[in-house]
Amino acid sequence: MSKVPAYAAPSANAPLAPFTVARRDPGPHDVAIDIEFCGICHSDVHQARDEWGGSIFPMVPGHEILGRVRQVGAKVTKFKAGDRVGVGCLVDSCQDCDPCRRHKEQFCQKGGAFTYNGTEMDRKTPTYGGYSTSVVVSEAFVLKVPEGLDPAAAAPLLCAGITTYSPLKQWHCKPGDKVGVVGLGGLGHMAVKLAAAMGAEVTMLSTSRAKEADARRLGAHGFALTSDDAVFKKLAGHFDLMIDTVSAPHDLNREVGLLRPEGALVLVGAPPEPMPFSSFALIMGNKRMAGSLIGGLAETQEMLDFCAAKKVVSDVEVIPAQKVNEAYERMLKGDVRYRFVIDTASLKSA
Ligand SMILES: [Zn+2]
Ligand SMILES: [Zn+2]
Repeated sequence: MSKVPAYAAPSANAPLAPFTVARRDPGPHDVAIDIEFCGICHSDVHQARDEWGGSIFPMVPGHEILGRVRQVGAKVTKFKAGDRVGVGCLVDSCQDCDPCRRHKEQFCQKGGAFTYNGTEMDRKTPTYGGYSTSVVVSEAFVLKVPEGLDPAAAAPLLCAGITTYSPLKQWHCKPGDKVGVVGLGGLGHMAVKLAAAMGAEVTMLSTSRAKEADARRLGAHGFALTSDDAVFKKLAGHFDLMIDTVSAPHDLNREVGLLRPEGALVLVGAPPEPMPFSSFALIMGNKRMAGSLIGGLAETQEMLDFCAAKKVVSDVEVIPAQKVNEAYERMLKGDVRYRFVIDTASLKSA
């Protein structure tokens, strides 16, 4: 066992503070990783503040982990010391249930092992995330990160990237498809970049005209101001696919009206309250509404390789761990373009 520096939330009501976390010695199938960068996801804030209930404290958040392999166990075959690697939202699963066998480890019937705010599959040992200088993870849950990707900017691919890549793949996004992305934040900016890289004609839908220039810079071909009622007439029946990243209540029925017949609206943002919804909006045109949660390990690897080939990374603001509380406040105000990433060198010097 080794003790390494980290940043942790001691309780739901206290700011994050320096903490020491114990990492196991790597077993035969384990990879020990020196963490270089860790992205800050909105779900980190919700869980560190126990807004979803059931949080485990002290909590070391972080599931957008990027680093280099320090050491591998005797039976590890895919990795060697020095390899650049990533870890996303999962560090283990039963690897035996139906979803696991279908490479959908995110739906493991035994619950899987989340990277933090959970337990290992023994259901006793707490998991601690990436706001830390190192982590030990089973080989099957470690991803290869191509060297061509900037490491700080690649970290958010491990959650924000796969969360938006997976629905684009599930609905077979292809060149020429008309894709609408609703909301420009951490998820929305990745959805724009990835859909554009797949050759889609991308439109950003936002309540704020101030987002237009950024949306176009990120690759959007069009912009629609959703506070303008005329937009819903002009773009009625327009989109093959819409990815909705908004986590505040909004009008889903109007969004469905923008889909062509048999088009799909996929929700990846999670407003806390249920939203009213009319069945007619879907029935008239065989439209589909769906949700999507991260991706399995194989799909996450496919996404990283796609991003390397297309030179897609996140737009990031790199911060020292000591600024994490400030970053949380700024995120809640939407004051980040578009993802904070912790440089873990700040923990070594602390
Ligand atoms: Zn996340
Ligand atoms: Zn399973």
